[in-house]
Amino acid sequence: MLETICDILVEAYDRNWITSRDGNVSIRHHDRDHFYITPSGVRKQTLQPDQFKKIIIKPPLTWNEPKTGLIAERWGWKEDNYTAISSALAPSGEIPLHFGLLKQLGQHKDEVRVVVHVHPTYCVAAMHAGIDLSTITEEFPELSRYTKVAPNVPDVPPISQELADQCHEKLGLNFETGDIKYDIVGIKGHGVVAIDSSPWRAFEHIERLEHICKIVLASGKY
Ligand SMILES: [Zn+2]
Repeated sequence: MLETICDILVEAYDRNWITSRDGNVSIRHHDRDHFYITPSGVRKQTLQPDQFKKIIIKPPLTWNEPKTGLIAERWGWKEDNYTAISSALAPSGEIPLHFGLLKQLGQHKDEVRVVVHVHPTYCVAAMHAGIDLSTITEEFPELSRYTKVAPNVPDVPPISQELADQCHEKLGLNFETGDIKYDIVGIKGHGVVAIDSSPWRAFEHIERLEHICKIVLASGKY
């Protein structure tokens, strides 16, 4: 499936959803203790499977908080050797966003989960115009048949834990089970994050939302 991820990023580039070095994608198979993520700063038109970073998911450490006595836990990750080319690269700066969605697979626990982050023109334009992407599904029911859209994440710095936390919250991520309420979330002034069980399925959530945003903006009524 790493080849398929390379294919969807070429398609995303061709559709103006990213410029050359933008966008990042991760994938985890349910029966593996690791995931793969796109490397930072590489051209997505020429991305190859051997450039991906392999990331080991470390089981959570638990301890009793001294003040409250409640059990706290912290998950971690570490880079693993994958290929010679990959070891010279760094993982995407958005790894906190991907890690939070991949450490537990929730409703995808017996399959694959893929997380795709890109910057589609009309989704970003609609948020810039003040539209909360979750509200447009009310007037376009065809969209909500297949794609559940979360409320927007406000302006947050890219490549930050804050961006990760806000995306997880708006997507309705359940930290205990890993279940997610929505398929896609928009980040104002930035882009979208979509999740599904294959690269093309995640791609289709973005495609559907982008199409409706284009229609809404073309109508001038918003
Ligand atoms: Zn981005």
